[in-house]
Amino acid sequence: MKRGLSLSAGIAIAPAFRMDEVAFPGLADSVNPATELVRFDAACEAVAADLDRTIQHVAKEISEPAADIFRGHRALLRDPALVGKVRSIIEKEHLDSVRALRKTLDDYSKLFEQISDEYFRERMADIRDVIGRLVNQLSIASGLQKFDTHTPVILIAQELLPSHAVMFDRLKVIGIVTETGGSIGHAAILARSLGIPAVSSVVGVLKETRSGDLIIVDGREGVVLVNPGPEVESAYRKQEREYVDLRNQLIENRDHAPITADGVSLEFLANVNNMFDAASAVGVGATAVGLFRTEFIFLTHSGVPTEEEQERAYRNVIEASPNANVTIRVLDLGGDKQVPYLGSRREANPFMGFRSIRLMTDYPELFRTQLRAILRASRYGHISVMFPMISRVEEVIELKLLFEELRKSLIEQGLQLPDRIPFGVMAEVPSAALCINEILDLVDFVSIGSNDLTQYLMAADRDNPKVAHLVDPCYPAVLRLLRGLIGACVERQKPVTLCGEMAGSPRCLLPLLGMGLRRFSMAPAFVGSMKEMAKTITLADARQAAEKVLSMRTLAEVRDYLNRRVRELCPRVAELEVG
Ligand code: PEP
Ligand code: MG
Repeated sequence: MKRGLSLSAGIAIAPAFRMDEVAFPGLADSVNPATELVRFDAACEAVAADLDRTIQHVAKEISEPAADIFRGHRALLRDPALVGKVRSIIEKEHLDSVRALRKTLDDYSKLFEQISDEYFRERMADIRDVIGRLVNQLSIASGLQKFDTHTPVILIAQELLPSHAVMFDRLKVIGIVTETGGSIGHAAILARSLGIPAVSSVVGVLKETRSGDLIIVDGREGVVLVNPGPEVESAYRKQEREYVDLRNQLIENRDHAPITADGVSLEFLANVNNMFDAASAVGVGATAVGLFRTEFIFLTHSGVPTEEEQERAYRNVIEASPNANVTIRVLDLGGDKQVPYLGSRREANPFMGFRSIRLMTDYPELFRTQLRAILRASRYGHISVMFPMISRVEEVIELKLLFEELRKSLIEQGLQLPDRIPFGVMAEVPSAALCINEILDLVDFVSIGSNDLTQYLMAADRDNPKVAHLVDPCYPAVLRLLRGLIGACVERQKPVTLCGEMAGSPRCLLPLLGMGLRRFSMAPAFVGSMKEMAKTITLADARQAAEKVLSMRTLAEVRDYLNRRVRELCPRVAELEVG
Protein backbone atom coordinates (compact mmCIF):
# COMPACT_ATOMS: atom_id res chain seq x y z
CA MET A 1 0.00 0.00 0.00
CA LYS A 2 1.25 3.45 -0.92
CA ARG A 3 0.09 6.72 0.52
CA GLY A 4 -0.17 10.01 -1.33
CA LEU A 5 -2.15 13.20 -1.55
CA SER A 6 -5.88 12.91 -2.30
CA LEU A 7 -6.68 14.88 -5.41
CA SER A 8 -10.09 13.62 -6.39
CA ALA A 9 -12.41 11.28 -4.47
CA GLY A 10 -13.73 7.88 -5.55
CA ILE A 11 -12.43 4.37 -5.99
CA ALA A 12 -11.09 2.88 -9.21
CA ILE A 13 -9.74 -0.59 -9.93
CA ALA A 14 -8.07 -1.35 -13.27
CA PRO A 15 -4.79 -2.26 -14.94
CA ALA A 16 -2.02 0.34 -14.91
CA PHE A 17 -1.19 2.32 -18.02
CA ARG A 18 2.19 3.99 -17.67
CA MET A 19 2.35 7.23 -19.60
CA ASP A 20 6.07 6.91 -20.15
CA GLU A 21 5.79 3.39 -21.44
CA VAL A 22 3.04 3.77 -24.03
CA ALA A 23 2.07 0.15 -23.77
CA PHE A 24 1.48 -1.76 -26.94
CA PRO A 25 -0.16 -5.04 -26.03
CA GLY A 26 0.89 -7.83 -28.27
CA LEU A 27 3.99 -6.02 -29.49
CA ALA A 28 6.79 -8.41 -30.32
CA ASP A 29 10.04 -8.07 -28.39
CA SER A 30 11.91 -7.88 -31.63
CA VAL A 31 10.75 -6.20 -34.83
CA ASN A 32 11.68 -6.48 -38.46
CA PRO A 33 14.02 -3.50 -38.96
CA ALA A 34 13.07 -2.95 -42.60
CA THR A 35 9.34 -2.51 -41.92
CA GLU A 36 10.03 -0.60 -38.71
CA LEU A 37 12.22 1.90 -40.59
CA VAL A 38 9.37 2.52 -43.04
CA ARG A 39 7.07 3.16 -40.10
CA PHE A 40 9.58 5.52 -38.48
CA ASP A 41 10.15 7.48 -41.71
CA ALA A 42 6.41 7.85 -42.20
CA ALA A 43 6.08 9.24 -38.67
CA CYS A 44 8.91 11.73 -39.37
CA GLU A 45 7.14 12.88 -42.51
CA ALA A 46 3.80 13.30 -40.78
CA VAL A 47 5.37 15.30 -37.94
CA ALA A 48 7.31 17.45 -40.43
CA ALA A 49 4.13 18.26 -42.36
CA ASP A 50 2.38 19.13 -39.11
CA LEU A 51 5.26 21.41 -38.11
CA ASP A 52 5.20 23.14 -41.52
CA ARG A 53 1.56 24.07 -40.96
CA THR A 54 2.35 25.26 -37.46
CA ILE A 55 5.30 27.39 -38.62
CA GLN A 56 3.16 29.19 -41.19
CA HIS A 57 0.39 29.83 -38.75
CA VAL A 58 2.59 30.93 -35.84
CA ALA A 59 4.56 33.29 -38.09
CA LYS A 60 1.30 34.95 -39.11
CA GLU A 61 -0.54 34.96 -35.79
CA ILE A 62 2.20 35.22 -33.18
CA SER A 63 5.62 36.34 -34.41
CA GLU A 64 8.62 35.30 -36.49
CA PRO A 65 10.79 34.59 -33.42
CA ALA A 66 8.07 32.30 -32.06
CA ALA A 67 7.89 30.51 -35.41
CA ASP A 68 11.65 30.02 -35.21
CA ILE A 69 11.13 27.65 -32.29
CA PHE A 70 9.14 25.35 -34.56
CA ARG A 71 11.62 25.85 -37.40
CA GLY A 72 14.25 24.55 -34.97
CA HIS A 73 12.10 21.50 -34.31
CA ARG A 74 11.60 21.00 -38.01
CA ALA A 75 15.37 21.15 -38.53
CA LEU A 76 15.92 18.52 -35.84
CA LEU A 77 13.82 16.12 -37.88
CA ARG A 78 16.46 16.40 -40.59
CA ASP A 79 19.38 16.26 -38.18
CA PRO A 80 21.45 13.25 -39.27
CA ALA A 81 22.82 12.77 -35.75
CA LEU A 82 19.40 12.46 -34.10
CA VAL A 83 17.51 10.63 -36.85
CA GLY A 84 20.56 8.51 -37.67
CA LYS A 85 20.85 7.42 -34.07
CA VAL A 86 17.21 6.24 -33.91
CA ARG A 87 17.53 4.45 -37.23
CA SER A 88 20.70 2.73 -36.17
CA ILE A 89 19.10 1.50 -32.92
CA ILE A 90 16.20 0.07 -34.93
CA GLU A 91 18.59 -1.59 -37.36
CA LYS A 92 21.08 -2.97 -34.88
CA GLU A 93 18.92 -3.74 -31.85
CA HIS A 94 15.69 -4.62 -33.67
CA LEU A 95 13.73 -2.34 -31.36
CA ASP A 96 10.45 -0.72 -32.39
CA SER A 97 10.50 3.02 -33.13
CA VAL A 98 9.05 4.13 -29.80
CA ARG A 99 11.59 2.19 -27.79
CA ALA A 100 14.37 3.38 -30.07
CA LEU A 101 13.23 6.97 -29.54
CA ARG A 102 13.12 6.49 -25.79
CA LYS A 103 16.60 5.04 -25.78
CA THR A 104 17.81 7.98 -27.84
CA LEU A 105 16.17 10.40 -25.42
CA ASP A 106 17.81 8.68 -22.45
CA ASP A 107 21.23 8.83 -24.09
CA TYR A 108 20.87 12.51 -24.97
CA SER A 109 19.58 13.33 -21.46
CA LYS A 110 22.65 11.73 -19.89
CA LEU A 111 24.90 13.62 -22.25
CA PHE A 112 23.25 16.98 -21.67
CA GLU A 113 23.16 16.54 -17.89
CA GLN A 114 26.91 16.97 -17.90
CA ILE A 115 26.70 20.32 -19.69
CA SER A 116 25.94 23.33 -17.55
CA ASP A 117 25.58 25.75 -20.46
CA GLU A 118 22.06 27.23 -20.57
CA TYR A 119 21.94 27.25 -24.37
CA PHE A 120 22.60 23.53 -24.59
CA ARG A 121 20.07 22.78 -21.90
CA GLU A 122 17.46 24.58 -23.99
CA ARG A 123 18.41 22.37 -26.93
CA MET A 124 17.53 19.36 -24.80
CA ALA A 125 14.03 20.77 -24.36
CA ASP A 126 13.75 20.94 -28.16
CA ILE A 127 14.92 17.35 -28.57
CA ARG A 128 12.44 16.20 -25.95
CA ASP A 129 9.65 18.03 -27.75
CA VAL A 130 10.48 16.53 -31.14
CA ILE A 131 10.79 13.02 -29.72
CA GLY A 132 7.49 13.54 -27.91
CA ARG A 133 5.82 14.53 -31.18
CA LEU A 134 7.20 11.45 -32.91
CA VAL A 135 6.08 9.11 -30.12
CA ASN A 136 2.66 10.71 -30.21
CA GLN A 137 2.46 10.29 -33.96
CA LEU A 138 3.50 6.63 -33.77
CA SER A 139 0.98 6.03 -31.00
CA ILE A 140 -1.81 7.57 -33.00
CA ALA A 141 -0.76 5.72 -36.12
CA SER A 142 -0.82 2.32 -34.51
CA GLY A 143 -0.27 1.77 -30.83
CA LEU A 144 -3.19 3.44 -29.16
CA GLN A 145 -5.52 2.22 -31.83
CA LYS A 146 -4.34 -1.27 -31.07
CA PHE A 147 -4.88 -0.62 -27.41
CA ASP A 148 -8.50 -1.35 -26.70
CA THR A 149 -9.89 2.08 -25.93
CA HIS A 150 -12.84 0.53 -24.12
CA THR A 151 -10.68 -1.17 -21.52
CA PRO A 152 -10.56 0.96 -18.37
CA VAL A 153 -7.05 1.88 -17.23
CA ILE A 154 -5.38 3.72 -14.36
CA LEU A 155 -2.96 6.28 -15.70
CA ILE A 156 0.42 6.29 -13.95
CA ALA A 157 2.66 9.29 -14.61
CA GLN A 158 5.42 11.40 -13.17
CA GLU A 159 3.04 14.35 -13.30
CA LEU A 160 -0.06 15.10 -15.23
CA LEU A 161 0.24 18.11 -17.49
CA PRO A 162 -2.78 19.87 -18.94
CA SER A 163 -1.53 18.95 -22.42
CA HIS A 164 -1.89 15.28 -21.48
CA ALA A 165 -5.65 15.81 -21.64
CA VAL A 166 -5.39 14.50 -25.18
CA MET A 167 -4.76 11.03 -23.71
CA PHE A 168 -8.23 11.06 -22.27
CA ASP A 169 -9.73 11.05 -25.75
CA ARG A 170 -7.79 7.94 -26.69
CA LEU A 171 -7.96 5.86 -23.55
CA LYS A 172 -10.63 5.03 -21.05
CA VAL A 173 -8.91 6.51 -18.00
CA ILE A 174 -10.79 5.77 -14.79
CA GLY A 175 -8.12 6.72 -12.26
CA ILE A 176 -4.87 8.68 -12.03
CA VAL A 177 -1.75 8.21 -9.92
CA THR A 178 1.16 10.64 -10.14
CA GLU A 179 4.47 11.13 -8.40
CA THR A 180 4.05 14.93 -8.13
CA GLY A 181 1.32 17.61 -8.33
CA GLY A 182 -0.58 19.61 -5.69
CA SER A 183 -4.22 19.37 -4.67
CA ILE A 184 -5.40 22.49 -6.50
CA GLY A 185 -2.94 22.18 -9.36
CA HIS A 186 -4.23 21.80 -12.85
CA ALA A 187 -3.87 18.03 -12.94
CA ALA A 188 -6.11 17.78 -9.89
CA ILE A 189 -8.62 20.07 -11.56
CA LEU A 190 -8.55 17.93 -14.67
CA ALA A 191 -9.17 14.75 -12.65
CA ARG A 192 -12.05 16.32 -10.77
CA SER A 193 -13.59 17.73 -13.91
CA LEU A 194 -13.57 14.19 -15.31
CA GLY A 195 -14.97 12.92 -12.02
CA ILE A 196 -12.25 10.27 -11.68
CA PRO A 197 -10.32 9.36 -8.55
CA ALA A 198 -6.75 10.62 -8.38
CA VAL A 199 -3.86 10.49 -5.95
CA SER A 200 -0.58 12.40 -6.29
CA SER A 201 2.74 12.48 -4.47
CA VAL A 202 3.00 8.70 -4.61
CA VAL A 203 6.76 8.44 -4.42
CA GLY A 204 8.31 5.60 -6.39
CA VAL A 205 5.13 4.46 -8.10
CA LEU A 206 6.70 4.67 -11.54
CA LYS A 207 9.60 2.53 -10.49
CA GLU A 208 7.42 -0.11 -8.91
CA THR A 209 4.63 -0.54 -11.41
CA ARG A 210 4.46 -1.87 -14.90
CA SER A 211 1.71 -1.39 -17.41
CA GLY A 212 -0.82 -4.13 -16.85
CA ASP A 213 -0.38 -4.40 -13.04
CA LEU A 214 -3.67 -4.29 -11.18
CA ILE A 215 -4.04 -0.97 -9.39
CA ILE A 216 -6.55 0.21 -6.81
CA VAL A 217 -6.88 3.97 -6.34
CA ASP A 218 -8.76 5.21 -3.31
CA GLY A 219 -9.05 8.93 -3.93
CA ARG A 220 -10.75 9.69 -0.62
CA GLU A 221 -8.01 8.25 1.53
CA GLY A 222 -5.12 9.03 -0.83
CA VAL A 223 -4.20 5.35 -1.01
CA VAL A 224 -2.84 3.32 -3.94
CA LEU A 225 -2.45 -0.47 -3.99
CA VAL A 226 -0.42 -2.39 -6.56
CA ASN A 227 -1.37 -6.04 -7.26
CA PRO A 228 -3.17 -6.31 -3.91
CA GLY A 229 -4.43 -9.91 -4.10
CA PRO A 230 -7.99 -11.23 -4.49
CA GLU A 231 -9.35 -10.54 -0.97
CA VAL A 232 -8.32 -6.92 -0.88
CA GLU A 233 -9.50 -6.46 -4.45
CA SER A 234 -12.96 -7.82 -3.70
CA ALA A 235 -13.29 -5.65 -0.56
CA TYR A 236 -12.46 -2.57 -2.64
CA ARG A 237 -14.83 -3.63 -5.43
CA LYS A 238 -17.62 -3.64 -2.86
CA GLN A 239 -16.65 -0.14 -1.68
CA GLU A 240 -16.46 1.01 -5.29
CA ARG A 241 -20.05 -0.17 -5.91
CA GLU A 242 -21.31 1.54 -2.75
CA TYR A 243 -19.57 4.75 -3.71
CA VAL A 244 -21.02 4.73 -7.21
CA ASP A 245 -24.50 3.95 -5.85
CA LEU A 246 -24.34 6.91 -3.50
CA ARG A 247 -23.15 9.24 -6.24
CA ASN A 248 -25.92 7.98 -8.53
CA GLN A 249 -28.50 8.66 -5.85
CA LEU A 250 -27.23 12.21 -5.58
CA ILE A 251 -27.50 12.65 -9.35
CA GLU A 252 -31.25 12.49 -8.75
CA ASN A 253 -30.78 15.98 -7.35
CA ARG A 254 -30.27 17.22 -10.89
CA ASP A 255 -33.91 18.17 -11.27
CA HIS A 256 -34.04 20.12 -8.01
CA ALA A 257 -33.00 23.76 -7.88
CA PRO A 258 -30.26 24.33 -5.28
CA ILE A 259 -32.00 25.70 -2.27
CA THR A 260 -31.22 25.66 1.45
CA ALA A 261 -33.48 24.11 4.11
CA ASP A 262 -34.82 27.59 4.91
CA GLY A 263 -35.46 28.50 1.27
CA VAL A 264 -32.41 30.54 0.23
CA SER A 265 -31.86 30.07 -3.52
CA LEU A 266 -28.35 29.38 -4.70
CA GLU A 267 -26.84 29.13 -8.17
CA PHE A 268 -24.67 26.14 -8.97
CA LEU A 269 -22.71 26.62 -12.19
CA ALA A 270 -20.16 24.40 -13.89
CA ASN A 271 -16.46 24.70 -14.70
CA VAL A 272 -15.72 23.21 -18.11
CA ASN A 273 -12.81 22.68 -20.49
CA ASN A 274 -14.67 21.42 -23.54
CA MET A 275 -18.08 20.49 -24.96
CA PHE A 276 -18.10 17.11 -23.20
CA ASP A 277 -17.82 18.77 -19.80
CA ALA A 278 -20.56 21.17 -20.91
CA ALA A 279 -22.82 18.20 -21.66
CA SER A 280 -22.03 16.75 -18.19
CA ALA A 281 -23.01 20.12 -16.72
CA VAL A 282 -26.45 19.70 -18.27
CA GLY A 283 -26.60 16.11 -16.99
CA VAL A 284 -26.05 17.11 -13.35
CA GLY A 285 -28.43 20.07 -13.43
CA ALA A 286 -26.03 23.03 -13.34
CA THR A 287 -27.80 26.16 -14.59
CA ALA A 288 -24.94 27.67 -16.61
CA VAL A 289 -21.20 27.46 -17.17
CA GLY A 290 -19.47 29.77 -14.70
CA LEU A 291 -15.93 29.12 -15.98
CA PHE A 292 -14.90 27.90 -19.41
CA ARG A 293 -11.12 27.43 -19.31
CA THR A 294 -10.25 28.12 -22.95
CA GLU A 295 -6.58 27.26 -22.62
CA PHE A 296 -7.22 23.53 -22.98
CA ILE A 297 -8.04 24.14 -26.65
CA PHE A 298 -4.58 25.62 -27.05
CA LEU A 299 -2.83 22.98 -24.96
CA THR A 300 -4.24 20.10 -26.94
CA HIS A 301 -3.60 21.66 -30.36
CA SER A 302 -0.40 20.72 -32.16
CA GLY A 303 0.06 24.34 -33.29
CA VAL A 304 -2.05 27.41 -32.57
CA PRO A 305 -5.81 27.25 -33.14
CA THR A 306 -7.02 29.69 -35.79
CA GLU A 307 -9.82 32.21 -35.30
CA GLU A 308 -12.22 29.90 -37.18
CA GLU A 309 -11.18 26.84 -35.18
CA GLN A 310 -11.64 28.76 -31.96
CA GLU A 311 -15.02 30.13 -32.97
CA ARG A 312 -16.15 26.58 -33.75
CA ALA A 313 -14.82 25.24 -30.44
CA TYR A 314 -16.50 28.04 -28.44
CA ARG A 315 -19.74 27.59 -30.34
CA ASN A 316 -19.69 23.85 -29.60
CA VAL A 317 -19.25 24.52 -25.90
CA ILE A 318 -21.94 27.23 -25.82
CA GLU A 319 -24.46 25.04 -27.63
CA ALA A 320 -23.74 22.07 -25.35
CA SER A 321 -23.98 24.14 -22.14
CA PRO A 322 -26.96 24.49 -19.80
CA ASN A 323 -29.20 27.27 -21.16
CA ALA A 324 -26.42 28.10 -23.66
CA ASN A 325 -25.12 30.37 -20.91
CA VAL A 326 -21.34 30.50 -20.62
CA THR A 327 -18.74 32.69 -18.92
CA ILE A 328 -15.76 32.39 -21.24
CA ARG A 329 -12.39 33.00 -19.67
CA VAL A 330 -9.70 34.55 -21.82
CA LEU A 331 -6.50 32.55 -22.28
CA ASP A 332 -4.75 31.80 -18.99
CA LEU A 333 -1.51 30.17 -20.17
CA GLY A 334 1.82 30.12 -18.41
CA GLY A 335 2.68 28.86 -14.94
CA ASP A 336 2.34 25.12 -15.40
CA LYS A 337 0.26 25.50 -18.57
CA GLN A 338 3.03 25.96 -21.09
CA VAL A 339 2.85 26.01 -24.84
CA PRO A 340 6.17 26.15 -26.67
CA TYR A 341 5.46 29.35 -28.61
CA LEU A 342 4.84 31.75 -25.71
CA GLY A 343 7.07 33.50 -23.25
CA SER A 344 10.51 32.57 -22.12
CA ARG A 345 10.90 28.89 -21.48
CA ARG A 346 12.81 29.21 -18.27
CA GLU A 347 11.62 31.46 -15.55
CA ALA A 348 12.70 31.20 -11.95
CA ASN A 349 9.11 31.73 -10.75
CA PRO A 350 6.74 30.82 -13.56
CA PHE A 351 3.57 31.31 -11.49
CA MET A 352 4.68 34.84 -10.69
CA GLY A 353 6.13 35.49 -14.09
CA PHE A 354 5.16 36.22 -17.63
CA ARG A 355 1.83 34.44 -17.75
CA SER A 356 -1.86 34.85 -18.47
CA ILE A 357 -2.96 38.34 -19.62
CA ARG A 358 0.59 39.59 -18.96
CA LEU A 359 1.57 37.83 -22.20
CA MET A 360 -0.54 40.34 -24.07
CA THR A 361 2.28 42.88 -24.28
CA ASP A 362 4.37 40.54 -26.45
CA TYR A 363 1.61 38.63 -28.21
CA PRO A 364 -1.20 41.11 -28.86
CA GLU A 365 -2.38 39.31 -32.00
CA LEU A 366 -2.89 36.03 -30.17
CA PHE A 367 -5.29 37.71 -27.73
CA ARG A 368 -7.01 39.86 -30.35
CA THR A 369 -7.67 36.73 -32.39
CA GLN A 370 -9.11 34.97 -29.39
CA LEU A 371 -11.33 37.89 -28.43
CA ARG A 372 -12.62 38.13 -32.00
CA ALA A 373 -13.40 34.40 -31.96
CA ILE A 374 -15.22 34.78 -28.63
CA LEU A 375 -17.19 37.76 -29.95
CA ARG A 376 -18.16 35.83 -33.07
CA ALA A 377 -19.28 32.89 -30.94
CA SER A 378 -21.39 35.22 -28.76
CA ARG A 379 -24.08 34.92 -31.44
CA TYR A 380 -24.84 31.37 -30.36
CA GLY A 381 -25.92 31.90 -26.77
CA HIS A 382 -25.59 34.11 -23.72
CA ILE A 383 -21.96 34.71 -23.03
CA SER A 384 -19.95 36.76 -20.58
CA VAL A 385 -16.25 37.44 -21.00
CA MET A 386 -13.86 37.21 -18.10
CA PHE A 387 -10.17 38.13 -17.83
CA PRO A 388 -7.88 36.14 -15.49
CA MET A 389 -4.88 37.13 -13.35
CA ILE A 390 -5.77 40.80 -12.90
CA SER A 391 -3.31 42.42 -10.53
CA ARG A 392 -3.88 46.14 -11.17
CA VAL A 393 -6.83 48.34 -11.99
CA GLU A 394 -4.88 49.75 -14.95
CA GLU A 395 -5.12 46.35 -16.65
CA VAL A 396 -8.90 46.40 -16.36
CA ILE A 397 -9.07 49.84 -17.98
CA GLU A 398 -6.92 48.70 -20.92
CA LEU A 399 -8.73 45.39 -21.39
CA LYS A 400 -12.09 47.11 -21.41
CA LEU A 401 -10.94 49.49 -24.14
CA LEU A 402 -9.53 46.63 -26.19
CA PHE A 403 -12.67 44.57 -25.85
CA GLU A 404 -14.86 47.51 -26.87
CA GLU A 405 -12.62 48.31 -29.86
CA LEU A 406 -12.84 44.74 -31.17
CA ARG A 407 -16.57 44.55 -30.55
CA LYS A 408 -17.18 47.76 -32.50
CA SER A 409 -14.98 46.72 -35.37
CA LEU A 410 -16.84 43.42 -35.80
CA ILE A 411 -20.18 45.28 -35.70
CA GLU A 412 -18.85 47.68 -38.38
CA GLN A 413 -18.05 44.65 -40.49
CA GLY A 414 -21.74 43.79 -40.33
CA LEU A 415 -21.74 41.11 -37.63
CA GLN A 416 -24.92 40.94 -35.55
CA LEU A 417 -23.62 40.80 -31.99
CA PRO A 418 -25.69 40.86 -28.79
CA ASP A 419 -26.34 44.39 -27.44
CA ARG A 420 -24.54 43.65 -24.25
CA ILE A 421 -21.81 41.18 -23.39
CA PRO A 422 -21.08 41.27 -19.65
CA PHE A 423 -17.44 42.10 -18.95
CA GLY A 424 -15.86 40.67 -15.82
CA VAL A 425 -12.57 39.82 -14.18
CA MET A 426 -11.20 37.17 -11.89
CA ALA A 427 -10.18 38.19 -8.42
CA GLU A 428 -7.33 35.77 -7.84
CA VAL A 429 -4.32 37.93 -7.02
CA PRO A 430 -4.35 39.45 -3.51
CA SER A 431 -3.70 42.96 -4.88
CA ALA A 432 -6.91 42.77 -6.92
CA ALA A 433 -8.81 41.43 -3.92
CA LEU A 434 -7.60 44.30 -1.78
CA CYS A 435 -8.43 46.96 -4.39
CA ILE A 436 -11.71 45.37 -5.41
CA ASN A 437 -13.72 48.58 -5.00
CA GLU A 438 -11.79 50.35 -7.73
CA ILE A 439 -12.20 47.31 -9.98
CA LEU A 440 -15.92 47.05 -9.28
CA ASP A 441 -16.35 50.55 -10.76
CA LEU A 442 -15.31 49.10 -14.12
CA VAL A 443 -16.78 45.61 -14.39
CA ASP A 444 -20.17 43.90 -14.63
CA PHE A 445 -19.19 40.93 -12.47
CA VAL A 446 -16.38 39.32 -10.53
CA SER A 447 -15.37 35.69 -10.27
CA ILE A 448 -13.15 34.66 -7.39
CA GLY A 449 -10.31 32.28 -8.30
CA SER A 450 -9.69 30.83 -4.87
CA ASN A 451 -7.00 28.46 -6.18
CA ASP A 452 -4.65 31.19 -7.28
CA LEU A 453 -5.75 33.53 -4.52
CA THR A 454 -4.66 30.90 -1.99
CA GLN A 455 -1.33 30.19 -3.69
CA TYR A 456 -0.44 33.87 -3.94
CA LEU A 457 -1.63 34.80 -0.48
CA MET A 458 0.25 31.91 1.11
CA ALA A 459 3.29 32.32 -1.18
CA ALA A 460 3.16 28.57 -1.90
CA ASP A 461 3.12 27.01 -5.37
CA ARG A 462 -0.18 25.20 -5.88
CA ASP A 463 1.52 22.40 -7.85
CA ASN A 464 4.35 21.68 -5.47
CA PRO A 465 3.53 18.79 -3.11
CA LYS A 466 6.28 19.89 -0.73
CA VAL A 467 4.25 22.97 0.19
CA ALA A 468 0.80 21.43 -0.34
CA HIS A 469 -0.01 21.81 3.37
CA LEU A 470 0.17 25.59 2.94
CA VAL A 471 -2.18 25.77 -0.03
CA ASP A 472 -5.54 25.34 1.66
CA PRO A 473 -8.33 27.87 1.21
CA CYS A 474 -9.65 27.02 4.68
CA TYR A 475 -6.68 28.75 6.28
CA PRO A 476 -8.03 31.71 8.30
CA ALA A 477 -6.04 34.33 6.32
CA VAL A 478 -7.63 33.17 3.05
CA LEU A 479 -11.09 33.07 4.62
CA ARG A 480 -10.66 36.61 5.94
CA LEU A 481 -9.62 37.90 2.54
CA LEU A 482 -12.61 36.13 0.97
CA ARG A 483 -14.96 37.69 3.46
CA GLY A 484 -13.80 41.21 2.47
CA LEU A 485 -13.98 40.39 -1.21
CA ILE A 486 -17.45 38.83 -1.15
CA GLY A 487 -18.72 41.54 1.19
CA ALA A 488 -17.56 44.34 -1.16
CA CYS A 489 -19.24 42.74 -4.20
CA VAL A 490 -22.49 42.11 -2.32
CA GLU A 491 -22.55 45.67 -1.01
CA ARG A 492 -22.09 47.07 -4.51
CA GLN A 493 -24.71 44.62 -5.82
CA LYS A 494 -22.32 43.21 -8.41
CA PRO A 495 -22.74 39.53 -9.24
CA VAL A 496 -19.97 37.52 -7.62
CA THR A 497 -19.19 33.86 -8.25
CA LEU A 498 -16.48 31.69 -6.74
CA CYS A 499 -14.99 29.31 -9.31
CA GLY A 500 -11.95 27.83 -7.52
CA GLU A 501 -11.96 24.25 -6.22
CA MET A 502 -13.49 25.24 -2.88
CA ALA A 503 -16.77 26.06 -4.69
CA GLY A 504 -17.37 22.31 -5.05
CA SER A 505 -16.48 21.42 -1.48
CA PRO A 506 -19.51 20.81 0.77
CA ARG A 507 -17.30 21.67 3.74
CA CYS A 508 -16.71 25.18 2.34
CA LEU A 509 -20.34 25.78 1.42
CA LEU A 510 -21.20 26.67 5.00
CA PRO A 511 -18.75 29.57 5.57
CA LEU A 512 -19.00 30.90 1.99
CA LEU A 513 -22.78 31.04 2.19
CA GLY A 514 -22.49 32.70 5.57
CA MET A 515 -20.23 35.38 4.05
CA GLY A 516 -22.92 36.23 1.49
CA LEU A 517 -21.88 34.15 -1.53
CA ARG A 518 -24.75 32.70 -3.60
CA ARG A 519 -23.09 31.68 -6.89
CA PHE A 520 -20.75 28.67 -6.93
CA SER A 521 -19.01 27.34 -10.04
CA MET A 522 -17.57 23.83 -9.78
CA ALA A 523 -16.63 20.67 -11.70
CA PRO A 524 -19.91 19.04 -12.82
CA ALA A 525 -19.14 15.97 -10.67
CA PHE A 526 -19.75 17.98 -7.49
CA VAL A 527 -23.12 19.52 -8.28
CA GLY A 528 -25.09 16.54 -6.92
CA SER A 529 -23.43 16.46 -3.51
CA MET A 530 -23.45 20.26 -3.21
CA LYS A 531 -27.22 20.29 -3.82
CA GLU A 532 -27.61 17.58 -1.19
CA MET A 533 -25.56 19.61 1.27
CA ALA A 534 -27.52 22.79 0.50
CA LYS A 535 -30.83 21.04 1.27
CA THR A 536 -29.73 20.22 4.79
CA ILE A 537 -28.44 23.61 5.97
CA THR A 538 -29.94 26.97 6.89
CA LEU A 539 -28.60 30.48 6.58
CA ALA A 540 -28.31 30.57 10.36
CA ASP A 541 -26.03 27.47 10.25
CA ALA A 542 -23.96 29.12 7.55
CA ARG A 543 -23.60 32.46 9.34
CA GLN A 544 -22.64 30.72 12.54
CA ALA A 545 -20.01 28.68 10.66
CA ALA A 546 -18.60 31.78 8.96
CA GLU A 547 -18.36 33.66 12.23
CA LYS A 548 -16.66 30.73 13.94
CA VAL A 549 -14.04 30.00 11.27
CA LEU A 550 -13.18 33.67 10.77
CA SER A 551 -12.11 33.89 14.37
CA MET A 552 -10.12 30.65 14.42
CA ARG A 553 -6.35 30.51 14.67
CA THR A 554 -5.24 27.41 12.80
CA LEU A 555 -6.12 25.40 9.70
CA ALA A 556 -6.68 22.26 11.77
CA GLU A 557 -9.29 24.04 13.90
CA VAL A 558 -11.15 25.21 10.80
CA ARG A 559 -11.07 21.85 9.03
CA ASP A 560 -12.03 19.86 12.12
CA TYR A 561 -14.95 22.16 12.81
CA LEU A 562 -16.22 22.19 9.22
CA ASN A 563 -15.80 18.42 8.78
CA ARG A 564 -17.72 17.85 11.99
CA ARG A 565 -20.54 20.14 10.81
CA VAL A 566 -20.77 18.29 7.48
CA ARG A 567 -20.98 14.96 9.34
CA GLU A 568 -23.69 16.31 11.63
CA LEU A 569 -25.74 18.09 9.00
CA CYS A 570 -25.32 15.82 6.02
CA PRO A 571 -23.72 12.42 6.74
CA ARG A 572 -24.36 11.13 3.21
CA VAL A 573 -22.20 13.85 1.76
CA ALA A 574 -19.51 13.39 4.40
CA GLU A 575 -19.09 9.86 2.95
CA LEU A 576 -18.13 11.23 -0.45
CA GLU A 577 -15.66 13.95 0.51
CA VAL A 578 -11.91 13.87 0.23
CA GLY A 579 -10.80 13.64 3.88
C1 PEP B 1 -8.55 29.74 -9.70
O1 PEP B 1 -7.41 30.18 -9.73
O2 PEP B 1 -9.19 29.57 -8.64
C2 PEP B 1 -9.25 29.37 -10.95
C3 PEP B 1 -10.51 29.04 -10.94
O3 PEP B 1 -8.53 29.36 -12.10
P1 PEP B 1 -7.46 28.22 -12.47
O4 PEP B 1 -7.64 27.11 -11.48
O5 PEP B 1 -7.75 27.81 -13.87
O6 PEP B 1 -6.17 28.96 -12.32
MG1 MG C 1 -6.58 30.92 -11.59
